[in-house]
Amino acid sequence: MKLNVALLKGDGIGPEIVESAVEVLNAVGKKYGHEFSFTPYLIGGIAIDTYGEPLPKETVDGCLKADSVLLGAVGGPKWDSLAGNLRPEKALLGIRSAMGLFTNLRPAKLYPALKDECPLRADIVENGFDIMIVRELTGGIYFGERGYRDGKYGEEAYDTESYSRMEIERIAKVAFETARKRRKKLTSIDKANVLETSRLWRKIMHEVAKDYPDVELSDMLVDNAAMQLVRNPSQFDVIVTSNMFGDILSDEASQITGSIGMLPSASLGDTKRGLYEPIHGSAPDIAGQGKANPIATILSVAMMLLYSFDMKKESDAIVNAVDKVLEKGYRTADLARGKTPLTTKEMTEKIILEI
Ligand code: NAD
Repeated sequence: MKLNVALLKGDGIGPEIVESAVEVLNAVGKKYGHEFSFTPYLIGGIAIDTYGEPLPKETVDGCLKADSVLLGAVGGPKWDSLAGNLRPEKALLGIRSAMGLFTNLRPAKLYPALKDECPLRADIVENGFDIMIVRELTGGIYFGERGYRDGKYGEEAYDTESYSRMEIERIAKVAFETARKRRKKLTSIDKANVLETSRLWRKIMHEVAKDYPDVELSDMLVDNAAMQLVRNPSQFDVIVTSNMFGDILSDEASQITGSIGMLPSASLGDTKRGLYEPIHGSAPDIAGQGKANPIATILSVAMMLLYSFDMKKESDAIVNAVDKVLEKGYRTADLARGKTPLTTKEMTEKIILEI
């Protein structure tokens, strides 16, 4: 297969980690007979420096033409004092909206080899955990009507949450399909004891469930879910939830893995074209020093192979290679704990050797 990937390297460690992921994709292409080509576009701080804006039109057009998009990270102290709409991070919302991405998939996996990094007690994570959070990305309270007004007790601010049947049905389908590709267990998280939007959410989740009899659906209130994630994370397979609950729970879930440099993500819409990126930022404190852990970005391309290109065995080859390298004890500086760390490049080479 011939596929074109748009590369948005961005700022800080972005170019280093994207370079690693490209090398890994090329290695997969060579082994399995696919041809990947790459077209770079500017985003974030570097786009501000070059074009005066964080998301130039050329970048948007390029992403919309590509088969899929790989993003490094954006931002850094150089651009911190700019006004809100000119900041590098503004480009992230812009590109998601231009590509019509309404789902965010964020795995939180504790690798057996990295158990010591987990901040939870050893007996809680004895069996590791492997959770996929499916977060609705373009609706809910972050996009509802908002404002300031004079209230009974003076100044007041308000934000409103609303979800339509269409928005809930389409995220439900993504969640059930995702669960089908995994352990077939879906937990829908809401606040149906209080919120109308959650009651509609729950009703529609159960309607859609009828089309997926092979997937076991359960409901959980968000306050309980926040507790269960630290009490017994291995009970979860796939979680589906609204924009704001997903924002908070996915950060909680990433923290209990204890390793920010390891976690990938995917944002998906109606087409096969997705946006794949590590969950971490541009790490300006270590940029250009060869210290960045490339694994989150490498696992992001494993997600791209699975969700955009339907290449399961190729995707598994990357995931298994990462597992093996960690089992063998190789670590970048963020996880080295006194051992001699590998550089970004050396870690990439070790992973490629296992593919
Ligand atoms: P960060 O994720 O960049 O870094 C937090 C800490 O984790 C730092 O000590 C960093 O060195 C370390 N770290 C992060 N990724 C690592 C990796 N792959 N390997 C080794 N260590 C790693 O978060 P921050 O410091 O809060 O933000 C830095 C910049 O990144 C800011 O400008 C912020 O706005 C931006 N940011 C961008 C994104 C994105 O592009 N999606 C996300 C979050 C933050």
